[in-house]
Amino acid sequence: MPTKKTFVERIAEKIGLVPNLAKDRDPLFGETQVTALEKFPPIEKWDHWEEYEATAWPRRVKKTYQIVPTTCFNCESACGLTAYIDKESGEVRKFEGNPYHPGSRGRNCAKGPATINQITDPDRILYPLKRKGARGSGEWERVSWDDVLDTFASRIRKAIQEGRQNQIAYHVGRPGHEGYANRVLQGWGIDGHNSHTNVCSSGARFGYNLWYGYDRPSPDHANAKFILLISSHLESGHYFNPHAQRIIEGKMKGAKLATMDPRLSNTASMSDYWMPTYPGSEPALLLSLAKVILDEELYNRSYMEKWVNWRAYLAAKFPDEPPSFDLFIEKLKILYAEFTPEFGEQESGVKADIIRKVGREIGEAGERFASHTWRSASAGNLGGWCVARNLHFLQVLTGSVGTKGGTSPNSWNKFKPQFFDVPPAQKFWNELHFPQEYPLAFFEMSFLLPHFLKEGRGKMDVYFSRVFNPVWTYPDGFTWMEAYTDENLFGLHAAMTPTWNETAFFADYVLPMGHSSERHDLNSYATHSGMWIAFRQPVRREAARRRGEDFEFTYQVNPGEVWEEDEFWIELSWRIDPDGSMGIRKHFESPYRPGEKITVDEYYQYIFEHTKGLSAAAQKEGLSELEYMRKYGAFEVEKNSYLKNEQSLSEEQMSGTNINEEDGTIYKEGKAIGIMIDGEPMVGFPTPSRRHEFYSQTMVDWKWPEHAVPTYIKSHIHPDNLDREKGEYCLVPTFRLPTLIHSRSGNAKWLTEISNRNPIWMHPDDAQRWGFKTGDLVKLNTDIGYFIDKVWVTQGMKPGVVACSHHLGRWRRAQDQGNRWATNTVAMAEGNPGEWKMNTKQGVRPFQSKDPDSSRIFWMDGGVHQNITHAVHPDPISGMHCWHQRVRIEKPGPDDRYGDICVDTNKSHEVYKEWLAMARPAPGPDNLRRPLWFKRAVRPAEETFYLSPEK
Ligand code: SF4
Repeated sequence: MPTKKTFVERIAEKIGLVPNLAKDRDPLFGETQVTALEKFPPIEKWDHWEEYEATAWPRRVKKTYQIVPTTCFNCESACGLTAYIDKESGEVRKFEGNPYHPGSRGRNCAKGPATINQITDPDRILYPLKRKGARGSGEWERVSWDDVLDTFASRIRKAIQEGRQNQIAYHVGRPGHEGYANRVLQGWGIDGHNSHTNVCSSGARFGYNLWYGYDRPSPDHANAKFILLISSHLESGHYFNPHAQRIIEGKMKGAKLATMDPRLSNTASMSDYWMPTYPGSEPALLLSLAKVILDEELYNRSYMEKWVNWRAYLAAKFPDEPPSFDLFIEKLKILYAEFTPEFGEQESGVKADIIRKVGREIGEAGERFASHTWRSASAGNLGGWCVARNLHFLQVLTGSVGTKGGTSPNSWNKFKPQFFDVPPAQKFWNELHFPQEYPLAFFEMSFLLPHFLKEGRGKMDVYFSRVFNPVWTYPDGFTWMEAYTDENLFGLHAAMTPTWNETAFFADYVLPMGHSSERHDLNSYATHSGMWIAFRQPVRREAARRRGEDFEFTYQVNPGEVWEEDEFWIELSWRIDPDGSMGIRKHFESPYRPGEKITVDEYYQYIFEHTKGLSAAAQKEGLSELEYMRKYGAFEVEKNSYLKNEQSLSEEQMSGTNINEEDGTIYKEGKAIGIMIDGEPMVGFPTPSRRHEFYSQTMVDWKWPEHAVPTYIKSHIHPDNLDREKGEYCLVPTFRLPTLIHSRSGNAKWLTEISNRNPIWMHPDDAQRWGFKTGDLVKLNTDIGYFIDKVWVTQGMKPGVVACSHHLGRWRRAQDQGNRWATNTVAMAEGNPGEWKMNTKQGVRPFQSKDPDSSRIFWMDGGVHQNITHAVHPDPISGMHCWHQRVRIEKPGPDDRYGDICVDTNKSHEVYKEWLAMARPAPGPDNLRRPLWFKRAVRPAEETFYLSPEK
């Protein structure tokens, strides 16, 4: 129904100030105006699309655009974007969705279109920069890409020639290139991959991996009957927009949604059940749900009997009793007898009745039970990995692994590219990344790196940080600053980043790398049951190519000299090994022109030529595979990907195998490759038993027998470990606001306008206890210091717990530049060695720039940097940083000011040692430093998994 026009609108129409849209036929769209505006431009018009210039309204000023697809880089989902390039100016004017992208299906969250802010940000880095003064002095000079390449190539070459391979590292924050950089590192023969994953998802990955050898879930939300989320996943989690639209699709078909979160997040508010769990209690509650399913006989007997390694459990624990599945169920019921709904309530605060109800509904949903956990609770506390393990237990009980409406392993829905060249595995094991203390750590122990370096465990001679900002994003940022400014610890540091950030301030070189529309990448993510690839491409480059322009590198068509890593790594690799004598250059030679340098087009062409189904689709349109991807930006490789564990082993695969008579495991050359199910040889899951491992011999072998089966570990912020009388609370710092991107939204004015402060969420009961009202200052004391923030009193917070969003509190010092939409100006000072203070000198302020909006900034409060006051908390098993903090709440004193921060890095090193002491170091069986069946992002040669005899 059209809304009624106001008096003013009617007058404006009458005098011709605005057109009468109902009456006047639009010359551009004619009769079909409304329909045309509701749809995406048809693909045949993407090379020449006409529409009116919005800013000229009510005048009808026609604009013509070239529409080029790419993908968003503002979270992991890699949703499709289309860039509208003004044919007159050659500038990108806006970004919209790409209807041909199977994951996002034309939709985006606020962060997708905000890419336009990032590429037009007046503060962006446009040229490679080299520091002029001391590290961190804030003085920079422009250098050429040639200078950069020569400097880094010669230093890397020297390190490799001198056998110092372990002093070269690539430390990645936001990846998203499907193995590109990993291949580069193996091409150089170094064990140099370091990631952010242990402050992000290692906990969840570890819990999943123990069960079935895959480390991520891929829920089929759209077809589920019951969805359980342990995070605010619908609003802000991983695969945010692709998952959110499918969760709603599922709900519209009748699915029920339950959310465990101590905050009433947007997601919780959309749920049928909000389960505000006490942080760290989630594994206990999940076991209570499991008990309901067991007690009420709602488990999927036939699935479990076939696919769970129950025989191994009975053999280990009840060797004298004749094994049977009934005995297993009997023992399970005894094992989890204590996890009554009442116990679940005692630990979590969620009512026992609700636990019973949700348990029943999950059991009744059966094979159509979908669930997800990622960071959130799995990243919060000691033993957080049990969240994923116990959640997957529910999937196994209901037989909903890999089913329609269930939850698959993410690898089933994720494309693996075939490369033109696969370098051999590196012959090095870098103990700065995988130290012996953490043999099971699921990823590199990256957040301990500065502590390791300070202890003299090694050095970083050449260090690349890539879209990575540990000074701000990680816990214990002052320790990072201390290490980054010490040239004995970090020899040469290049920050490869599209934006200024707090880490780049302390680098030697700042290398501007493109935003999503300025670079190449291949993307594929498990957004639903299906498999797709998407092509992130530099849109101005593609537009220039279509115009027939000549250029060699992407930086020649990007703004300034903004480059992309793909070409940078090829050029750098050739300069490290100019004559090919080091065996590096050959990995960067064209598969089509032997002996010549590969181009980025050839790199992708090769992958696309080897993508199932793509050649046929391209041929239909008379295009090459690369042309097809340039045109559509995405391709659906597989529609539905269910029950891949049931894939049959071929005759060839079966030849030379032997089968264990008791449990049906199929072995070849000493390795389990499948299992017999109902007389059929099936591939199963990539675990030692090829089944779901309820019982983990790995945990026993690696000195954690008490966690051989799904358990509940009392966390470091369990109420028993807090002194309420002293004002101790659990602080939840793990949630994100849906409009922000870790540390990369500081240059997006629309996003910063929407979200710009991070107060402490506090329930009215707690506020009353302390005498706080909204806006009052509060002092939160952590183990290593404190920060002063403001209180937000809200019913949306669980009583007894406080929370603070982790995206805000961006800063710059007087000498720094960048991100003025979001940054406070701070002063930083060290008193006694290691005793640091930071004070906010000024909040966000309007500034003059080529963007008139910068003088219209109305928000002044940039929030508070909380993570810098957190000590490192490495989980002794998964290696995950346990984010939740024990904080002591205090009323600030008369001299305390909003944004004040105080940290003692001596204390943070002590806390590091306390947590380190909980670890149970390698070796494991056979003098191994890590189980052979555990993955590594860039896997070294098998012999490096064994400690040398003297170790
Ligand atoms: S969910 Fe939003 S930020 Fe993430 S890729 Fe999609 S549009 Fe970009």
